Amino acid sequence: MNDSTKHQGQRRQLVKLLEEKGIQDKGVITAVGSVPRHWFMDVGLEAYSYVDKAYPIDANQTISQPYTVAFQTQLLELKIGDKVLEIGTGSGYQTAILMAFEGLKVFTVERQQELFKKTKLLFKKIRLRPKKMIFGDGYRGLPDHAPFDAIIVTAGAAEVPKPLLKQLAIGGRLVIPVGEKKQIMTRYVRTGEKSFDRKTYGNFRFVPLLNNKN
Ligand code: SAH
Repeated sequence: MNDSTKHQGQRRQLVKLLEEKGIQDKGVITAVGSVPRHWFMDVGLEAYSYVDKAYPIDANQTISQPYTVAFQTQLLELKIGDKVLEIGTGSGYQTAILMAFEGLKVFTVERQQELFKKTKLLFKKIRLRPKKMIFGDGYRGLPDHAPFDAIIVTAGAAEVPKPLLKQLAIGGRLVIPVGEKKQIMTRYVRTGEKSFDRKTYGNFRFVPLLNNKN
């Protein structure tokens, strides 16, 4: 897979734009600057890889807008050694952004088989090795691998899946867009066994998080 100087230049412009839009986290800036988004785009849309927009991928899904990826990742407040769960692997772009951080253990779940297979192949090709890549329903989280220091949901949830809150470590962060037609970016921080801090961060638009249906 190539990463031409043209792509690199477009990527620097994208990073600049994200900084102008308020992204400050150094890790996020470095990650967006280093991950070739064009590797994750559908054929035919490559020319738009560094436009700050969401684009269609297989199975009627989308690759998230770079700003959204950066914003959600920033809210995760990642630290070296964190165990991170991503719900909705999709194109794999957000996974690659997480993998660009130093020393994270990344788990990712996708429930569309077609996308799961395609992205698995891509990861092999670009030698991206998350700790676990799982085909299944992320609504339930991954109880066998819990607790997680950070959980990111990349599809819109009508309500917050209880299992995900349960699988947060104390001090852990869940970043999830909540709502049906449009979503409110929401972050939960687990402050104790039974206590959570909840804050909201404005409106976004996502494809729906599927619960027990296709
Ligand atoms: N992070 C991805 C976003 C893809 S869109 C990217 O940057 O490309 C959201 C993804 O969530 C879709 O691929 C969709 O199939 C997946 N998804 C929806 N409901 C899910 C569920 N219950 N479990 C796992 N994945 C789900």
